Amino acid sequence: MSPRRRPGDALGEYRRKRRFDATPEPGGDEPRAPGTAADGGGRFVVHRHRATALHYDLRLEIGGVLASWAVPRGPSLDPAKRRLAIQVEDHPLSYFGFEGVIPGRQYGAGDVIVWDWGHWWADPGTPDGAAALVAGELKFRLDGVKLRGAFVLLRTDQWRGRLGGGTKPKWLLIHRRDDAATPGWEAEDLPESVKTGRTNDEVAAGLRPTGPVARPPRSRRRAPRRAVEVPTT
Ligand code: MN
Repeated sequence: MSPRRRPGDALGEYRRKRRFDATPEPGGDEPRAPGTAADGGGRFVVHRHRATALHYDLRLEIGGVLASWAVPRGPSLDPAKRRLAIQVEDHPLSYFGFEGVIPGRQYGAGDVIVWDWGHWWADPGTPDGAAALVAGELKFRLDGVKLRGAFVLLRTDQWRGRLGGGTKPKWLLIHRRDDAATPGWEAEDLPESVKTGRTNDEVAAGLRPTGPVARPPRSRRRAPRRAVEVPTT
C-alpha cells in the first residue's frame, strides 16, 4: 500500500458502488489524470444532493481525481459553524459538472445539482493537497460563485455510520476568520445551481434550463496569486 493511500482513494470504490446501465452518472473509466507535482490547487465543485438525506458533496481536484466529502448541513461562510464532513470515495474528474437524477434503488438515488464551483488552492502551511489528506489537515482557499475565502478541513476520527457502508474518515469543515467570513451564512439560502440556475426540485421534475448553461471553471496548473490587482495604467 502506497504511503499516500487513504480511505476512499480509488475510483474502484466509485465504480463498485454504481451500475452504469442504470445511473446517468459518468462511468469513471477514464484513466486517473496525473496529479500536479504538488497538488496545491485546482478546481472544486459542491453538489447539492438530495439522497436518503439531503447533503452537500464538496469535491476538490487533487491527484487526478475529485477527493470528496459529504457535508450534511452544507458549507458555511460563518466561522462559528463547524460542519461535519464525511470523507467518501474519490470521484472521477468527469463527475465535475454532473447534474441530474440518480434513479431509485441505485446508490445515492436522488437529484443532484452543481451548487457551486470554482478554484481552490492550498495555503502555505499545507501546500500539498494529497499530503494534507494523509496528514488530516488541509488549509485552503476557495474562489467560487458562492463560497470564498479561507477554510480548513480537519480530520477528527473515523465515521462509523451508514453512509455508503464501512468506516469513513470524519472531518470538520470550518471557515476561518477573514474578509469573506459572514456570520449567519447558510448554504440553504442559496438553493440554485450555478451551472443551470435550476433547483433540485426543477432537476427532479425534468425541467430544462431556461437560461444559459454556465461553462465550468477552467483547469489550471498554478494557484492564482491572492487578489492582487495590478493597475493597468
Ligand atoms: Mn452525495
